[in-house]
Amino acid sequence: MITAVKPHLKKGADLSAKRVMYWRIAQALVWMIGLAIFLLLIFYPSVGLLILWNILIPIAPALLVVATGLWRNICPLATTVLLPRHLNISKRKKMDPLLQSKLQLVAVIGLYAIVPLRHAIFNTNGFATALLLFLTTLVGLLMGFNYDWKSGWCSSLCPVHPVEKLYGGNTIVALPNAHCDHCVKCTVPCPDTTPNFHPAITKKNIYQTLSGLMIIGGLPGFIWGWFQVPDHTGETNAWVFFDAYIYPLIGFLASVMIFILFEGLGKEKNERILISSFAAAGVSIYYWFRIPALLGFGDQHADGLLIDLHNTIPQWIIMAITCATTLFFFYWLVYRKPKLNSWVIRPEYASRAH
Ligand code: SF4
Repeated sequence: MITAVKPHLKKGADLSAKRVMYWRIAQALVWMIGLAIFLLLIFYPSVGLLILWNILIPIAPALLVVATGLWRNICPLATTVLLPRHLNISKRKKMDPLLQSKLQLVAVIGLYAIVPLRHAIFNTNGFATALLLFLTTLVGLLMGFNYDWKSGWCSSLCPVHPVEKLYGGNTIVALPNAHCDHCVKCTVPCPDTTPNFHPAITKKNIYQTLSGLMIIGGLPGFIWGWFQVPDHTGETNAWVFFDAYIYPLIGFLASVMIFILFEGLGKEKNERILISSFAAAGVSIYYWFRIPALLGFGDQHADGLLIDLHNTIPQWIIMAITCATTLFFFYWLVYRKPKLNSWVIRPEYASRAH
């Protein structure tokens, strides 16, 4: 039996039935968009691939920087894998913190292993992308059936979660928690409800230290390397996979070494600035390449093209937009005073009465 224990709650933590309904409607709408994209990937792959890779995914990094909690509340995968918990059919096991640390490292490795495959397979193959989404959902659901709230997937194995932790260090507002009705401390510290959370906040074991280093230090270089590789079309062989991984790997290693150097030279009190600078670098490099590609000014021909404005607008406008986004992300993540916002507000604690 669960009984509620009132902690010191922020205003808005208690969701009225009406507000819960609004969040459920938002979750259902985004879930249906997710399902539509999944079906398009199978039956109309060119449309599904365009919507997924060239509309939805390019919005995601900026959303994670500004309002991580919004994504945590409406992510269609989260809505699916948390369904067993919402329906009270999850076994609600408490995850061992050491196992969770290991799974968080697996999530980081999974991110770096899967993303290069976009060039080799997923950017051009709708069915393979649908299969990837299906298998990911299946694993997430299995975890959701076994573990309590977000410990099974959203705060451990999800490969997007390391990026949320890196980019979501200074969000605009703490939203109500639209999933956990009561907090059972499934994850300590909880990334959703700890203000200014970042990937190096806990270094209690080698798995946490490694996953923090890999995502903070490695991501900016990895993103740079990823954009040096064109999408593969035609016959697939071992070289295609070598090409897909080699530049991101080189970028990752170079970036990790730069991070270790700065970390060694800097003072501990400046750790937040170093981490947020690497976060800002990662998201800025992403849009530095992604915006020109979306608008027809990319280096890799038509890869990642949304609308070709190449003959419509001058190149300096694209340069101005990419400089502005870079300035914005460094202002938002590094220069701006930490706002002490968590992604979402912690709900009432639950205490188990046996
Ligand atoms: S708010 Fe509590 S129950 Fe929800 S994810 Fe965080 S620790 Fe788990």
